[in-house]
Amino acid sequence: MSRRFGRAETTRMKAPWHSPAGAPPESRLLASVAEFTHHRDIDALDHSVVLSLAELIAVNSVTLCKRGESPQHPVDSIVVCSRKPGGGFVIEALDPTREGDPLDTLVCAMETLEAISDITDDGNSRLVVPIHREHAAIGALMLEAPDSLDNVRSMVEGFARIYCNYIALLNESERDKLTGLYNRRSFEQRLQRLLTLQRQKARGAAQDGEDKRRPVEEPSQLYLAILDIDHFKRINDTYGHVYGDEVILLLAQHMRASFRQSDVLFRFGGEEFVILLAAQDETAVHLVLDRFRQFVADHAFPQVGHVTVSIGYARITENDYPEIVLDRADKALYFAKQNGRDSVHGYESLTRRGELATPVSLGSIDLF
Ligand code: GH3
Ligand code: MG
Ligand code: MG
Repeated sequence: MSRRFGRAETTRMKAPWHSPAGAPPESRLLASVAEFTHHRDIDALDHSVVLSLAELIAVNSVTLCKRGESPQHPVDSIVVCSRKPGGGFVIEALDPTREGDPLDTLVCAMETLEAISDITDDGNSRLVVPIHREHAAIGALMLEAPDSLDNVRSMVEGFARIYCNYIALLNESERDKLTGLYNRRSFEQRLQRLLTLQRQKARGAAQDGEDKRRPVEEPSQLYLAILDIDHFKRINDTYGHVYGDEVILLLAQHMRASFRQSDVLFRFGGEEFVILLAAQDETAVHLVLDRFRQFVADHAFPQVGHVTVSIGYARITENDYPEIVLDRADKALYFAKQNGRDSVHGYESLTRRGELATPVSLGSIDLF
């Protein structure tokens, strides 16, 4: 069984249509669907789905796993809602990279697109239902209960279909149409999510350190980078907007292929991209970003030929306001633009070297 880390509050806002436990099954089912499709935030939606199913069916636990984007990381996230011995439920995040059960079973259901019904080692019934659309799984639901789950299988499959359709709508609103990367609107929420994940990892690493059986993982720092294509106006002017768009699209594809799955990529507007990434320190983040800059510089784009990019980055700490970190990275990017382009600069090292105006610090807000 995977080690758990991270706990979430299980208290949820009662929507006006919330149906009491004694209501007829049809209205409880409808109330559950209305409840989870009420959310616009994907994490809140995921929590609501597992909780709704756990409340609706007599289960020990309901698990929702979401598919990762690469074969090396078949699972992106796992959230499980378990019944507490004294009543009520607890929702926790599982580490999606830990191998073994239940990960293998969830991945199997996603790959075969077939539901799995079996008995666990401790004698519980288990039902795993893939969540899929157009023959591609985006995740899977897993239920464990003391009694057989055969009679609820079609209901769980119905839940999976509604969830899948709804998540497709939410995903569309979070993504940039041309590149498929996240759009600017979803930035704050993604950043918040990353900070929470970072906190959970640090806590997990500390616990591992305490029990002495695992090596202590060095906690990573989070960085925000802004990437802007150099002289993009010239590309538009020389080859036209269609080729300009093609460069934006290809660059986004190279970003997806070059950065890690855990790094979060945004098209912020025009030919400007934002990357949220974790690294051990400034040297490591600089290396990763400069490698990408070099890759772009060496690459020949169809028709347009060689294109260069400038990148500015800054560290993110828990107490930073997103706008302030964006502003810092933007200052480093501006420095790159002023100093020959086709380069990578970090706000902290520029400040240390006195190359930028030294910020005046007032609490957690810097005045320039
Ligand atoms: P710099 O090196 O200083 O960044 O020069 P630049 O020419 O890239 O200047 P800037 O970043 O200010 O200009 C970006 C241009 O990108 C302006 C606009 O015409 C063009 N642009 C913005 N959005 C799009 C888009 O979606 N498609 C295309 N083809 N062009 C766009
Ligand atoms: Mg530009
Ligand atoms: Mg620009």
